[in-house]
Amino acid sequence: MNAPFPAYRDRYLPALCLAEIDALPHKAWAPVILQVGAIEQHGPHLPVAVDSLLGQIWLNLALPLLPPDLPCYVAPPVTIGKSNEHWGFPGTLFVSKDTLRELLLSIARQLHRWGFRHLAVLNSHGGNVAVINYTMEEVRSELGMRVSTLRGAWDLDVSRQELTYGFHANEAETSWLLAAAPGLVDMSQAVCEYPAQVGDDGMLRPEFAPATFAWITRDISRSGIMGDAPAATAEKGLRWFRGGAERYAKGIVEAALKAREALS
Ligand SMILES: [Zn+2]
Repeated sequence: MNAPFPAYRDRYLPALCLAEIDALPHKAWAPVILQVGAIEQHGPHLPVAVDSLLGQIWLNLALPLLPPDLPCYVAPPVTIGKSNEHWGFPGTLFVSKDTLRELLLSIARQLHRWGFRHLAVLNSHGGNVAVINYTMEEVRSELGMRVSTLRGAWDLDVSRQELTYGFHANEAETSWLLAAAPGLVDMSQAVCEYPAQVGDDGMLRPEFAPATFAWITRDISRSGIMGDAPAATAEKGLRWFRGGAERYAKGIVEAALKAREALS
């Protein structure tokens, strides 16, 4: 009970009172991390909160790796994203692209009003990417805030098939959940299902082909899984967490230092 929660509580804006937020140093360049996730079906074996949970886990793992004197703050997370591609599966809860855009803009405007000038987005759901990119260009052009994007980068030692067509509720996501929250995973329900095969000579595929088509998950997956969920293990999850957290931390440090440099 005595361990701080979250692990980065001294950087977490919702845990601070107004005088503390007012007095935070280096608002002109210190990044405020905004984690954007999703609540959507993740197959029959994983909870619908996977993307939002993983976003929180990455922050919990990466932020303690920062130099303690590096100013970096964390905004309250956006846990519901744009997931219309998972429409029709029970448990998917999403907002429209316009609502997500408005929410992100409102958060940026108010952080700007509090004096912050650097927003760093850590997105954990592919369906949010287009909306976030568009909106962050608005934040940059209209508010003049610096915007950094913290991308997950992990060395997944998985097959080429999994790397290419393991999109969702896949070996990596299942492994991460087995490592972090095994009680939320039902491996007896995990199946392997791919929307396309590497090496087949078809021209039209959902992704990574000369011709692609707009898809929703219902078009290309029966189970809701796209990937080799049964191949997941907690050991892989732990290993991939470690490497991924280190890279997130390095990305945050570099984003902060470049922003400071740009002001000098
Ligand atoms: Zn996911």
